Amino acid sequence: MALPTHLELHIVMPDRMILQDHVDEVEIPGSEGYFGVLPGHTPLLASLAVGELWYRKGHEKYYLSIAFGFAEVLPDRVTILARLAERGEDIDPERAAAARKRAEERMQQLRTEVDYDRARVALMKSLTRLQVAARIPAGARVGDLKRVRDSVRG
Ligand code: ATP
Repeated sequence: MALPTHLELHIVMPDRMILQDHVDEVEIPGSEGYFGVLPGHTPLLASLAVGELWYRKGHEKYYLSIAFGFAEVLPDRVTILARLAERGEDIDPERAAAARKRAEERMQQLRTEVDYDRARVALMKSLTRLQVAARIPAGARVGDLKRVRDSVRG
């Protein structure tokens, strides 16, 4: 049987479809580390951590922020069932920077282990969002377009 030449990538959240596309390669933030998938990969199931997911179409790479869930890999298909998935252009970096500051402050107070762990997850999410948002070229973000429109309107 011929090896597949593409991957059908589905990224879904519990309440909606985020993305469905034919891609050449995917890198996934697994709970045991990042792993790459090319067409023809051995089938596997993996749980997801907080981190950046990218996929490549030709020479172009696209980035998302992911938090928790599962990935199912088949030779010709990757399904990401994410608790949270955000495309770079939908991320508000100012909000992520504020969340990062709050999480860092909470971690310094160190009340209980549970509090510390929650703050650590919030910190990871905010850092991932900042990293993914920084991949978007200036002006391409949804908020940027709105800001440009507002400034044109005066
Ligand atoms: P914050 O403290 O800023 O609310 P959070 O980490 O508590 O962030 P989550 O509970 O992870 O937020 O997410 C709640 C909702 O807000 C989700 O729909 C998520 O996609 C969205 N969201 C969170 N942070 C951002 C951001 N920086 N830009 C865009 N959407 C965000």
